[in-house]
Amino acid sequence: MNKLAVLGGTPAVAKTERHVEWPVIEDEDRKAVLDALDGGRFVSDADGETPVSSLERQWAERFGFGHCVAVANGTAALSLALSALGVGPGSEVIVPALTFIATGLAPLHNMAVPVFADVDPVTFNLDPADVERRITSRTRAIIPVHLHGAPADMDRINDIARRHGIAVVEDAAQAPGATHHGSPVGGLGDMGAFSLQVTKNIPTCGEGGLLVTNDDTLAESARRARQFGEVMESGKERDYVSHQLGWNQKMNGIQAAFATAQLSRFEEYEQARQTNIGRFLGRLRDLPGLTVPRPLAGTTHVWHILRFRFDPAAAGLHGVTPERFRDALRRVLRAEGVPMSRYQLMPLPDQTVFRERAGFGRGYPWAALDAGEERPPAGSYGSQHSVHSHAQYPVSHEVVRDSLTIQKRHLNPGSGALLDRYADAFEKTWQHLDTVGSFAGVTA
Ligand SMILES: *Cc1c(COP(=O)(O)O)cnc(C)c1O
Repeated sequence: MNKLAVLGGTPAVAKTERHVEWPVIEDEDRKAVLDALDGGRFVSDADGETPVSSLERQWAERFGFGHCVAVANGTAALSLALSALGVGPGSEVIVPALTFIATGLAPLHNMAVPVFADVDPVTFNLDPADVERRITSRTRAIIPVHLHGAPADMDRINDIARRHGIAVVEDAAQAPGATHHGSPVGGLGDMGAFSLQVTKNIPTCGEGGLLVTNDDTLAESARRARQFGEVMESGKERDYVSHQLGWNQKMNGIQAAFATAQLSRFEEYEQARQTNIGRFLGRLRDLPGLTVPRPLAGTTHVWHILRFRFDPAAAGLHGVTPERFRDALRRVLRAEGVPMSRYQLMPLPDQTVFRERAGFGRGYPWAALDAGEERPPAGSYGSQHSVHSHAQYPVSHEVVRDSLTIQKRHLNPGSGALLDRYADAFEKTWQHLDTVGSFAGVTA
């Protein structure tokens, strides 16, 4: 049998095969950037079509959103969405305990308190039943995240939100193009946020974000908020009057031009990814003790990140903890050339910023809740919370403990051959589970 690379054997993925890049940069991307430079329409109040307004229009058309507002990054899109919805001091916003930090920071940026809910063990997205348990009279919004490109259970989340009169802001940063009963994510709640950050499925050459909604008033409010609270009207001179709390969160025209060029190739890339990743996961599906990602019924997954869960007992390794099995697999698979890595080292509520309530000083925004008439439910947030984190978010903790991810390279439409080699590496590793077990501390 082929010796494991970690023991000096030949790696399943040769060093020369490993260099698959993301994003893919073609001549049309270079041309788009140069055209934007030469066009000279850099400022936000330039009239008529600009690289930014062109991206907004094409994004809205491609996915069928009523409005698209381009902003500086995905985090700003989330913050401005909450702001447009009137989420402010004294409000609570429910976010998943397993997500990227930005989802939890966006409420804080609006002086609102993030309240974490646990996730589903298969989709890694908000568990609707736990969302419902965390609702209080102060809950103003829910932010379902379509984590890793897999749509959250929007039927149940929208139903809960409707029954309680709460807004829904989708964090679709990892999921452009994913669908839920045939409808693209981002347009399923009141507002949706996308990120064009360079590692995402539709990237720009740096940072960018898009806020989408079908509501005219919310779109208008978000447009003002990104531009100092000003109203910018086509054909009219800028009047420098600020009508509401505003920021400067505008998108750069160069980033917009690059992203528009990438958007024009999205369909082609997405089809190639579905084929490549479908074949890859198909080869891994039957390995014992390995759970491959899969979408919720009625949804499509766009595979931004591939997360694998590992069960040592099901792999025949008894007496091995999930952490040790995970770490041993990471070591063995990396030696074979598969860049297995962790995504999120802890559930979000365990991050220092939330655990220690690091906000605006003097306890804010949490202090704004305590000033209200209702007592917060025990252990819902703050320092109390972290002590009980394992009990409060058992699934998020389990997933962090027993899983690893593959990121970025598989997004390249030409990654099919590389993914075949990754599958070889997994199969080879599974032929040597006794060695993996010995790395994980099995002595017998
Ligand atoms: C990337 C990301 C964001 C933030 O986007 P930026 O453009 O990096 O600010 C928010 N939420 C999730 C789930 C993300 O993956």
